[in-house]
Amino acid sequence: MEKTAKLYIVVPCYNEEAVLGETAKQMRDIMLKMLDDNLIAYNSKIVFVDDGSIDSTWKMIDTLTRQDNIFAGIKLSHNAGHQNAVYGGLMTVMDDCDCAISIDADLQDDIQVIPEMVKKFLNGYDVVYGVRNKRTTDTVFKRTTAVLFYRLMRLMGVNLVFNHADFRLMSRRAIKALSEYPERNLFLRGMVPTVGFPSTCVYYDRNERFAGKSKYPLKKMLSFAFDGITSFSVTPIRLIATMGAIACVIAIIMAVYTLVEKISGNTSAGWASMMLSIWFIGGVQLLSLGLIGEYIGKVYKEIKRRPRYIVEAYINNQNKFTSHTFDD
Ligand code: UDP
Ligand code: MG
Repeated sequence: MEKTAKLYIVVPCYNEEAVLGETAKQMRDIMLKMLDDNLIAYNSKIVFVDDGSIDSTWKMIDTLTRQDNIFAGIKLSHNAGHQNAVYGGLMTVMDDCDCAISIDADLQDDIQVIPEMVKKFLNGYDVVYGVRNKRTTDTVFKRTTAVLFYRLMRLMGVNLVFNHADFRLMSRRAIKALSEYPERNLFLRGMVPTVGFPSTCVYYDRNERFAGKSKYPLKKMLSFAFDGITSFSVTPIRLIATMGAIACVIAIIMAVYTLVEKISGNTSAGWASMMLSIWFIGGVQLLSLGLIGEYIGKVYKEIKRRPRYIVEAYINNQNKFTSHTFDD
């Protein structure tokens, strides 16, 4: 039998009434095409996750699901945020799908590469990242901030796929592995690479938002970047300790300098003791803060309770090997 996959496309929607109709139409077309090409199973679906919209988004989703049962809907009780909406969608479809693709509702990501993603999945990849070739359609501001964002993240030791946002395919077992990450601060594009399994990329050009406004103004973008750093990296804490160490070295240099000045009699009363204590105390304080920070960093890693490892396969242990084949 030909390989096909039961695919769910998960689309987070927050006040997207302006684009939803067009998005649904285009996504449905591509699903039908993939059905024709025998890439996906007949009961594959497009799942809209309404992230607490206050416009008519949910009503539109409701109507769509009545028109065609290729559509399905999930309504979150309040605006939980993009990452939580994507995660909620993935968790909901996890047990029912072979693979799921998350994609924004605004058609900025090229849905034409979806068949290619599915083909890669059928060829054995568990994670397929959608990567933007160029960002010519984004504003200069958005482009520059995005590059800075990736640079900063790399500097902070967070492993990200460059120019990949949240357009990606994940196999069921990859989503299951992700579900073992119980942390509350989600930063999916940082978490997914740590899940492991064979992964690859597909490339596309990013379009302009089809209609409606970006839901990620600068303020949200900054807090997203900050979230990404603080939920993945203890580098900022280490910086404090480094500063402390540097201050201690300066304290030693200053001590020598101060004593030399004192002995040569160039100083007024009290200067030497002031200079010595400022640098010494400053250095000791920063070092101590860094040390406490190290412990906090450990606590923080512990409370995330991430899985220590994820098993990809068992050999000679059939009953533990839960992975499924597509030939059945
Ligand atoms: N979104 C969401 N909840 C939010 C904000 C955004 O579900 O609180 C969705 C939104 O509907 C869209 C996707 O997340 O499908 C990305 O948002 P947007 O296109 O506004 O971000 P940008 O592409 O400008 O970074
Ligand atoms: Mg967008």
